[in-house]
Amino acid sequence: MKIVLLGAPGAGKGTQAKALSEKLSIPHISTGDIFRANIKGNTPLGIKAKGYIDKGELVPDELTVEIVKDRLANPDCEKGFILDGFPRTIPQAEYLDKVLNNMKIDLDATLLINVDDKDIIERMSGRRTCPNCGASYHVVFNPTKVEGVCDVCSTPVIQRPDDAAETVLNRLETYHKQTQPLISYYEKAGKLKVAQGADEVDETTARVFKALGI
Ligand code: AMP
Repeated sequence: MKIVLLGAPGAGKGTQAKALSEKLSIPHISTGDIFRANIKGNTPLGIKAKGYIDKGELVPDELTVEIVKDRLANPDCEKGFILDGFPRTIPQAEYLDKVLNNMKIDLDATLLINVDDKDIIERMSGRRTCPNCGASYHVVFNPTKVEGVCDVCSTPVIQRPDDAAETVLNRLETYHKQTQPLISYYEKAGKLKVAQGADEVDETTARVFKALGI
């Protein structure tokens, strides 16, 4: 299946993308993860992207679309893929349509994980991430088995710098202004499916699978 995940920052796209990736054996493509890997590696892309990300703003489209195009050309995407965090603007969605059209690929679905702003703020303040393997946790809703340490690779988990309170508000504002219009974009295209985000990760996963009919 070829799936786009939509939703506010902190709605659980990354967590659900991993569940979908395992269930369907297709790659999880997160532009946020790609940027963070580039920042960690101090690459030219990482250096350019860091300033925007730290402020809670979007990285400009022209820096973002090329990395997605390259990634989709990888043979592991032939069976399908889950795009998490891309597209985030109408021009990015139009670009994606063009790229997929050229590849003779049709999206199966765009799945919106719907979560209220109030819950988003609560979730993001409790979110912890592994700086080594990227695994994501929440101090209340999805805690690590051993406090403060990643279940997968035992690295101490951290709060992402852009999950700090003032940046979260900026990211939410950015989401409403620039990304939310994609909901009607995909609705008009007849591709939109919706799953209400729940506090429990497994419950959200069940709703996501149901919405996608898998
Ligand atoms: P995420 O991990 O998806 O929340 O992404 C973290 C940050 O990376 C976002 O707040 C943006 O600054 C940047 N980013 C990720 N994906 C995109 C995108 N498709 N377009 C622009 N900026 C992005």
